[in-house]
Order: sequence, then structure tokens, then C-alpha cells
Amino acid sequence: MADSMTLRIANFESQLRMLESRNCHVIPLSDWVAWRLALASGDAAPLPARAVVLTADDGHRSQFEAMAPALRERSWPVTLFVYPSAISNASYAMTWPQLRELAADPLVSVQSHTLWHPNLVRERGRMAPQAFRRFVADQLTRSRDTLEQKLAHPVTLLAWPFGLSDEGLAAQAAEAGYRSAFSLGNRSAGPADPLYAVPRHLIVDSVDASQLAARLEAAFANGMAS
Ligand SMILES: [Zn+2]
Repeated sequence: MADSMTLRIANFESQLRMLESRNCHVIPLSDWVAWRLALASGDAAPLPARAVVLTADDGHRSQFEAMAPALRERSWPVTLFVYPSAISNASYAMTWPQLRELAADPLVSVQSHTLWHPNLVRERGRMAPQAFRRFVADQLTRSRDTLEQKLAHPVTLLAWPFGLSDEGLAAQAAEAGYRSAFSLGNRSAGPADPLYAVPRHLIVDSVDASQLAARLEAAFANGMAS
């Protein structure tokens, strides 16, 4: 099924080759978070030059069939943000055994994308404040508990559905025990970005390897990680 979010495999492969040919260092998201947290205490060891983090959202089966093998070939780490209600349920999604197989690889980290991917900013406008707080708490904690129970590895990071959050949501993510949360924004993450709304580039098929290269070079020139 192709839609605006589809990234064709040939394009994905050429983006990976671009990262290789430009000597990018693909690091685990957890390394970036550790660096970002250590900045506050002033004892952050620098990230490698030209650091890039790979993440993929929503648990599509193509991540199991096409993406994971291409990354494994290169020994590149990736973080998958998954909402558990889709797994072994939605037709496009991975099954729990497939996700468990990926999660068993130390290079793959599976983290929370809420329980069923609601647009939280829109829901805030529709619900009474107390009910909304409970709804968000449920989305944040039950997704984490389900993933930890099914995959037996710790879940400490969150990606906002549709990349949408606000200050109240950020505060609730912190309260729920998440260490950092990620949005979208088509720009690279820097030390000044809020810890609970860290931007990520949304890579869809209309972003080809040369466009991606231009974005990364611009960010590296500013000393940022992508
Ligand atoms: Zn999503």
C-alpha cells in the first residue's frame, strides 16, 4: 500500500548508501539521549562527528521485511516507536513474534508511540481536563507496560503521535517516567531543543538521498546531530 508516508525500498537503500559514503556515524538513540541529559550536568562526552540517529514509527511490517535486514547488514542501530494496539492486529503491522524477533537484536530498540496513536493535541480540546489527564496517563503508561511485558526490555522513550505535543503533554511524559520524547519538524536536534519535543526529520519518498544529504550537511555545519 503506497501513500504519502511510503518510502520505496530503492530510495531507502540509496539514502543508506549516502550515509555511508558521507561517513555518517549512525548511533543509537539512547546514546543521543544520554548525551543530551549529561549536557545539563556539564559532563557530556562529545558525540561522534557526523552523528545520525535512525528511528521508524508505527510498526509497519516492511520494517521487519525490508528495513531491519538492510540495517543489520551494516550493523546500524535503530529505534522503533510502536503503538501496541496495532501489533498483531492492523493488516499493515508486524506481529508480536516479528517484533520480538527484532527486539532480541541488541541493535534494535523498541520504544513507545502511545497505546493507540491518538492525536493528543486535538483530544485535549474535546475532553474535560481531568478526563484528558487520565486519558494521556493511560496512553503513556499502558503502552510502556505492554511493550515491556511483551518484549522484556526497558521502555524509556516516547514518540508523540503525528509528532504533536504541547507543554502539558511534555510535563505528563516526564511525570510518567519517560526520559525524553520525540516529535517531527524536519530539522536536526540540538542542545537547545526541549527534551520532550526533540525534532526528527520525516523521511518520506519525496525526500531523495541528495535532499537528505543537503539537510544533514547543513545540520553538521551547525554542529548538530541528525
Ligand atoms: Zn506514528
